[in-house]
Formats: sequence, structure tokens, C-alpha cells
Amino acid sequence: MLNIENLKVAYGKAVALHDVSLRVEEGELVTLLGSNGAGKSTLLKTISGINRAMAGKIMWQGQEIQNQPSHLIVNHGIIQVPEGRAVFPDLTVAENLRMGAFTRRDERGVAKDLKEVFDLFARLKERRTQLAGTLSGGEAQMLAIARGLLSEPKLLMLDEPSLGLAPVVREAIYHVIQQIYKEKGITILLVEQNARWALKVATRAYILENGHVTMEDTGAALAANPDVQRAYLGH
Ligand code: ATP
Repeated sequence: MLNIENLKVAYGKAVALHDVSLRVEEGELVTLLGSNGAGKSTLLKTISGINRAMAGKIMWQGQEIQNQPSHLIVNHGIIQVPEGRAVFPDLTVAENLRMGAFTRRDERGVAKDLKEVFDLFARLKERRTQLAGTLSGGEAQMLAIARGLLSEPKLLMLDEPSLGLAPVVREAIYHVIQQIYKEKGITILLVEQNARWALKVATRAYILENGHVTMEDTGAALAANPDVQRAYLGH
């Protein structure tokens, strides 16, 4: 579905991704692990068309899409939920959700998806007329994910969805991500600091260090790997 080959990305002279290759097949949940500054956000932003690829290819369903503008990437169904719960604070919850659907013309489909999203996130339904700026951190993260779902994702990319949240809120986010994956069947590329959970739910995972992919395997195999355990699982 998504095939990245030998991708190189730099900020000025500083190379953030060297020769990165990665794939996500339809129906997978692929986790990207790596310490701060490893290049995880850079990779997602390059897929989304926010950062430029200097070399290499990003193939989507057999077509080269690297360096296409973001709106075209969104039209392909590649939807990124950015880090840091980016919601529009002066719009209501319902208006934020509508923003996720603003390129869609199928009003019926949007209404159906809105209903499904409210079934998934009861809290957002209760708060649909409230300004997004008044939500808690966890609710805002839920809203950012829900808005992504209204963009009809074929591939949903989540950048550290649990960052900075209290444990009980984090658990709720994990639960919702699993529902999106298992019940809605949406393919997911996940960047997540909590390696224990992220490897458990992943079909496959990649480890990114200093802009290089250093390991790739099933989530279970990586979780059993002593080097991974030492570096990411606190053993
Ligand atoms: P984090 O978990 O901290 O978000 P990350 O793995 O997502 O880390 P990136 O944010 O992709 O890492 O950063 C990769 C490298 O690129 C780092 O060295 C970072 O300092 C650098 N970098 C990221 N964004 C920019 C930018 N806008 N301008 C210059 N350098 C940047």
C-alpha cells in the first residue's frame, strides 16, 4: 500500500533521514519507534507532503507521490493526525469535525461518519457545542483523531497520540486506536513513545535511530529482542 524506498530528507545541511525504506501493507498497524530527534515526525511529515524528499521514492498504491502538495496526499486518503493535539481552539467540537470533512461532497457519507465518530467518542458527542479550546488534553487528542477519521483515511498516521497524557487518559486513547484498527479496519502507521504497548499492538515495527532504520520485525519479535528491551522497554 505504502512503500518508501531510500528516502532522504534534510533541514538545510542537517540530514534528518538517511536512506530510509519502510512499507505498510493494507490492514497493518505499523509502529515506528525511536528516541527524540530520531526522525519519526520528519518521516510522517514527508509522507504528508509537508517536508520535501531530497532523494528516494514514496509509493502509494503503485504511484510515486513524494513531494506532492499536502492536499493531494489527503485526497489519496493518507491522513496525518499531528503531534500535540492540533485542534482549532475557537471552533466548537462539531465545527472541528466538519473541518476534517471539508473536501467531501457526500453529505450523507459525512453524516454517517459523524455518527460513527460520536459512537466511538461519546465524550465528544456530549461536548459537541463546546469550544475546542476548553477541552482537556485527552479530549483534544480524541478530537484530533476523530477529525482525521472524518477525512476518510485509507492510511491513518498518528504522531505520539498519548504524549503528555495522564495514564488513565492514555489507556482510553490506546483503546480507541485499537477500535479504529480492529473494528473499522483502518490501516495505521503509529509513532508512539510507549514501546511496550506499541509493540504489542503492532503487526510490524521499525526502529529509527539518527535518521536510519536499524531494525524491522514483527512487534512480538522486537519486544523479545534484548537490545530493544534494553533501549526501549527499560529491562
Ligand atoms: P521527537 O520524538 O522529539 O518528535 P522525532 O523522532 O520525531 O523526535 P524529528 O522531529 O523528525 O524527530 O527530528 C529529526 C531531526 O531533525 C532532529 O535532529 C531535529 O532537531 C531536526 N529537525 C526537526 N524539525 C526541524 C526543523 N523544522 N528545522 C530544522 N531541524 C529540524
